[in-house]
Amino acid sequence: MDFAYSSTQQEIRAAVGELARRFGDAYWRDCDAREAYPDAFVAAMTEAGWLAALIPEQYGGSGLGLLDACVILEEINRQGGNAATCHAQMYTMASVLQHGSEAQKQAILPRIATGDLRLQAFGVTEPDAGSNTLRIKTFAKKVNGGYVINGQKIWTSRFRQSDMYLLLARTTPYEDVARKTDGLSLFLVDIAKAGRALQPRTIDTMLNHHTNEVFIDNLEVADEWRVGEEGQGFRYLLSSLNAERLLVSSECVGDGKWFVERARTYATGRVVFDKPIGANQGVAFPVARAHMSLSAAELMRNQAATLFDQGQPCGGEANMAKYLCSEASWEAAEAAMTTYGGYGVATEYDIERKWKEPCTASRTAVASSWR
Ligand SMILES: Cc1cc2nc3c(=O)[nH]c(=O)nc-3n(C[C@H](O)[C@H](O)[C@H](O)COP(=O)(O)OP(=O)(O)OC[C@H]3O[C@@H](n4cnc5c(N)ncnc54)[C@H](O)[C@@H]3O)c2cc1C
Repeated sequence: MDFAYSSTQQEIRAAVGELARRFGDAYWRDCDAREAYPDAFVAAMTEAGWLAALIPEQYGGSGLGLLDACVILEEINRQGGNAATCHAQMYTMASVLQHGSEAQKQAILPRIATGDLRLQAFGVTEPDAGSNTLRIKTFAKKVNGGYVINGQKIWTSRFRQSDMYLLLARTTPYEDVARKTDGLSLFLVDIAKAGRALQPRTIDTMLNHHTNEVFIDNLEVADEWRVGEEGQGFRYLLSSLNAERLLVSSECVGDGKWFVERARTYATGRVVFDKPIGANQGVAFPVARAHMSLSAAELMRNQAATLFDQGQPCGGEANMAKYLCSEASWEAAEAAMTTYGGYGVATEYDIERKWKEPCTASRTAVASSWR
């Protein structure tokens, strides 16, 4: 059993950290205030090859493992950035790599690796089904040579920043399947080609998350863009969801470390009642506790990602990691918010901007309400 990060992972951390520090607090504060997509940051990440980390070398990527990708996203958030603006490309990759056809991989992976094509969105959640993905209603009707899809998605993040997206739809009605996990299929959809068949509506959220409702009206998708076999989409989805949970866990760990560092520095320098506030156990202990929770959660993330990279089942571990990392991150966010007193909510101190991230992370699956 080896708990140490490999020398490659340490090099990744150093190189990503160096890039992320070029996009400091002022950059992210400005994006947040304007609700702008961080184009310059995403372009720099793409150019450096980090967003192609999981793409095999034969398709122009670097062929790294999921734990390596976790280190990349963790480091972005640890430096005060927000990796959620570009993480979907990494987790949708799991479905495409494991279940996509060779022709699909040849057609899209090299273009994603160079940044010519953005696959940054994933359409799963629907208004009526909510957390119960098996009850989605968006339906792909089989026609000669392909499918015609109708329905509605909600919370499709970065739809407007993507050229292509991964869409989950029913191909057999829920009532007609033998096993409730059958009858769903995954499709790679070209957003520009779809034209008026895809109508997004922005959802205004408390943080800058670029998320949308998407209305799907007679969207035509050719057979060649179905991922894997018809009816097996839910199983394929799980590989992407496990990757997503571990990548989001990593953003949480990175955020948590950022909060602990900021809180520690502020508590050391802020003097009231003639001593640094950090000299009071009531201030210091919550920060120390958050540090311990984060360290434990990071170990669970590492175990789950290692299993994923070994091709072993990791559903339980990935879900536990997502729960523990988002809770630990939230604990650290609250400790930092309290340490900063009134200044915690002043945007120029950046705590409120970052505080919104774990607040959101604990609301996506596996959610903290599932206790
Ligand atoms: C910022 C943001 C970005 C997102 N991006 C995407 C995206 O890109 N693509 C996508 O497909 N989805 C996305 N989602 C959706 C997200 O992954 C969740 O699946 C979705 O929010 C859950 O559905 P719901 O909000 O309808 O909650 P509901 O299912 O209505 O649940 C409401 C509450 O009840 C709880 N609950 C429900 N059932 C149970 C139960 N059996 N036991 C205990 N508690 C339960 C839930 O945990 C939640 O707290 C995003 C969500 C957010 C907030």
